[in-house]
Amino acid sequence: MINYLFQEKNWQSQLNDLITDPFELISLLELSPEQLDHQALLANKQFKLRVPRQFVEKIQIGNPHDPLLLQVLPHHLEMQALQGFSLDPLGERDANALPGILHKYKSRLLLTLTGACAIHCRYCFRRHFPYQENLPKEKDWLPIKKYLLEHPDVNEIILSGGDPLSVSNEKLARWIQHFEELSQIKTLRIHSRLPVVIPQRIDQDFLDILQNTHLKLVMVVHSNHPQELDQAFDDAMSNLIKKNVMLFNQSVLLKGINDNSLILSDLSYRLFHARVLPYYLHVLDKVSGSGHFLISDIHAQKIYQAILKELPGYLVPKLVREIHGELHKTPLNIF
Ligand code: SF4
Repeated sequence: MINYLFQEKNWQSQLNDLITDPFELISLLELSPEQLDHQALLANKQFKLRVPRQFVEKIQIGNPHDPLLLQVLPHHLEMQALQGFSLDPLGERDANALPGILHKYKSRLLLTLTGACAIHCRYCFRRHFPYQENLPKEKDWLPIKKYLLEHPDVNEIILSGGDPLSVSNEKLARWIQHFEELSQIKTLRIHSRLPVVIPQRIDQDFLDILQNTHLKLVMVVHSNHPQELDQAFDDAMSNLIKKNVMLFNQSVLLKGINDNSLILSDLSYRLFHARVLPYYLHVLDKVSGSGHFLISDIHAQKIYQAILKELPGYLVPKLVREIHGELHKTPLNIF
């Protein structure tokens, strides 16, 4: 394993020191530069490599099939044009009510606070999302507030992105204060991969912000493989639990990475060890560039049947697909 000292580093300095050069990544992992052919480099131009050094430390040196590496290294197959794959597979532009707002579900409103992420996951369904048109600024709170008042069914704000925890604590605190102005908003949910890839993001200032809000708090982290999780993650989850945050995980079912019931069962047990409950197991959203991660529905259902037999019910995530225009995630029926 590559040896880095991360515990002493704050999350901002780690965010400023991401690996963004694919050749540096390949060299650190002692892999052949031939993996980065012309098409892979074009894929990197389209969606640039970003990966925290702490995540790279968990990748096995010399293994081009490592499940963490496959999630981040640009691949020549991303440049294949495949039928059924598109830039906006979930039709999110239709749900883009105001800049920075996605209103897809009756009681929940999603705010894309930032387009920035600590890590670029090659399968991300928002890899082509027009973030530049969707970054709400301070002045945008008033129209958003008006929209919320016109939609009294909305009782939950979901901070998503990009990764909402890549913004400063000050900015998060300001937005949370805004939501608290409205009595209709009862719950704040944060979707983030940062607690997995840079667990030091759950710092004292952030915990203090959570301590001081009356909103019910939910965090949905994003881990696809047990190899991603370590003691620093456990410590971050433990600190969140002390602030009464309900913790869940969502994963994406990815060919060559976690399309195996034993890996998914291990992931559920590992999450439970950190007191995080598995929430969703998403089948791949068909975004352009991600076709090589796709497995068939039949294969997904077989894997799911196996984990149903292996796990207690409370550790089985829901196997779902998001369908453009549906007002909820759609479960994949088990035959
Ligand atoms: S939004 Fe989430 S899934 Fe997409 S690249 Fe960022 S961290 Fe990865």
